[in-house]
Amino acid sequence: MVKKLSTGDITEARCTRCQEVMNHTIVAMVEEKIVRVQCNTCNSVHNYRSPLAAKKAAAPKAASATKAKGVPRVSRKDPAAGEKQEWAEQIVKMQPELAIAYSMEGKYKVNSLVKHTTFGLGIVKRQSPGKVEMLFADGKKMLKSQ
Ligand SMILES: [Zn+2]
Repeated sequence: MVKKLSTGDITEARCTRCQEVMNHTIVAMVEEKIVRVQCNTCNSVHNYRSPLAAKKAAAPKAASATKAKGVPRVSRKDPAAGEKQEWAEQIVKMQPELAIAYSMEGKYKVNSLVKHTTFGLGIVKRQSPGKVEMLFADGKKMLKSQ
């Protein structure tokens, strides 16, 4: 048999401050019902709330997560907008007179400046065998290289 609870005993209750089920000391009882408790963690005294009462709160969260899954990622109006801005920010630190003329036979170092006859000044982002990724004023482009 479980011992009957009385004032001063420890019981589990939902703490209004901790927002969690915590051990509480019973402060006041009306007959066999706990009415006021003190949280053993934060020491706040509040009306007794059953540890079982709070489960409902979790439901809307799960529902919105499911909803988000089905929604396709919204792309920006201009997908290259970020790249254009990146180019503008980086190009000011470069010295255009040091730009290397682009050629398909070239091999490029990352972050070096290249001048392309059509696209203008580009910053080398990635060099891999046979291709080079460059950032131009109107976005990233993959070009042939050595
Ligand atoms: Zn508490």
